[in-house]
Amino acid sequence: MGFAVDLHTHTRHGSNCSYMEPRTLVSRALELGLDGVCITEHNASWEEEALKVLVEGTSLQLFAGMEVSTEWGDVLVFGVDGAAPRTGAVEEVRRIVDESGGAMIAAHPFRRYSVAGVAIDVDEACRWPLLRFVDAAEVFNGISTRREVELAQEVLSRLGLRGVGGSDSHAPHTLGACYTRFDDPLAGVGDLVAALNSGRFRAVHPGMGLEF
Ligand SMILES: [Zn+2]
Ligand SMILES: [Zn+2]
Repeated sequence: MGFAVDLHTHTRHGSNCSYMEPRTLVSRALELGLDGVCITEHNASWEEEALKVLVEGTSLQLFAGMEVSTEWGDVLVFGVDGAAPRTGAVEEVRRIVDESGGAMIAAHPFRRYSVAGVAIDVDEACRWPLLRFVDAAEVFNGISTRREVELAQEVLSRLGLRGVGGSDSHAPHTLGACYTRFDDPLAGVGDLVAALNSGRFRAVHPGMGLEF
């Protein structure tokens, strides 16, 4: 059982690169049996009120987050009320997240290794600076290759860093490709941040038959 949340999605409303209408995201998430979805646009955070309107009369929970570019790679931030910049130095983003009592997750931290011909060095991957600044990292991202996923599992295990799953979906057919199954229901972003800090969740990749 548990409470299944796709932690990483983009809609047309906030990410130019996305084809997903917010209402389609909601109906597709309900079809898939997801309990919640985090909308993590590149550019701006959704207002809580707008998210409530989208899910009115349904059982779905929507959470506002943001994907921020840093010098060491993308991070997902939650619980940062409109204060996060679109891009920034990772230390500065971490400071803002801490001030807001939010949470920060490394998005697809090993994507650079998914390219054929790029040698994998696990020790080097373990030393990737971004991993020192985050509360958890995406062990499963919907766009990741198997090679990237296997490396992520090994690095996170070695570092004792928690892993989450998110589809990084930009279109309805990829929604829920990976998700995070929380032990307890989440009623809002505050619950989400608390659950991410508690570690009471598992990352799920149905397509690869993996859990972490
Ligand atoms: Zn990204
Ligand atoms: Zn993304």
